[in-house]
Amino acid sequence: MNRDTGNKRPDLPFPAAPVNLGTMRLLVVEDEPKMLDFLRKGLGESGFVVDVARDGEEGLHLAATGDYDLIVLDIGLPKLDGWTVLNRLRAEKPTPVLCLSARADIDDRVKGLEMGADDYLTKPFAFSELLARVRTLLRRSAVGAGREPEHLSIAGLEVDLMRRKVTRDGQRVDLTAKEFALLSLLARRQGEVLSRTLIASQVWDMNFDSDTNVVDVAIRRLRAKVDDPFPKKLIHTVRSAGYVLEDRGL
Ligand code: CA
Repeated sequence: MNRDTGNKRPDLPFPAAPVNLGTMRLLVVEDEPKMLDFLRKGLGESGFVVDVARDGEEGLHLAATGDYDLIVLDIGLPKLDGWTVLNRLRAEKPTPVLCLSARADIDDRVKGLEMGADDYLTKPFAFSELLARVRTLLRRSAVGAGREPEHLSIAGLEVDLMRRKVTRDGQRVDLTAKEFALLSLLARRQGEVLSRTLIASQVWDMNFDSDTNVVDVAIRRLRAKVDDPFPKKLIHTVRSAGYVLEDRGL
């Protein structure tokens, strides 16, 4: 008998949201139309709900009255500059703020962080850089608010999500960034069968319509590091459904 059969579940729907962060609402405050479009489109395609404001007044109003998980705030803004918006917002709310500035001046960066910005990015930047920072801030605030664990522990496998460290039976396991992302996705949702499509979209940020072989290859590499050297296997293949990480007592 195939022991996987009982665990077979239908493929999960394609998720638009980033790894385990649910649907997050972002506010982008930026006056340059091209930059605003770039950010709105990119963040929208990355699964975020995005509201926009084109000047400091509107930005502050939306930030203070809306329910946002993170604010991307340009410093050079009409009506109220980003510093003023940040200053007034901080008197009211701890919403994470990622500041954007055209100036590479180190003093600006220091000033931003001192004024309560959670991170600071100088234009021009690659979208992937912005996205990585946004996700880090969201994860940090989710952990701070107790919505996300910092640490996962399954049958001798320890995954430190903040320090990005993995040990198995006390032995350090070195993983690449993608392998870590894959393992933490499986570990966060332990016991749940994750389809190849879901894994591909969450770990690679892409929709692999036909070729999800990349997932199988990555799983094989991950197993070689975290499962194969150890007696107990945690990553299981569920035929025609996907993969699941769970302690089956084997
Ligand atoms: Ca500007």
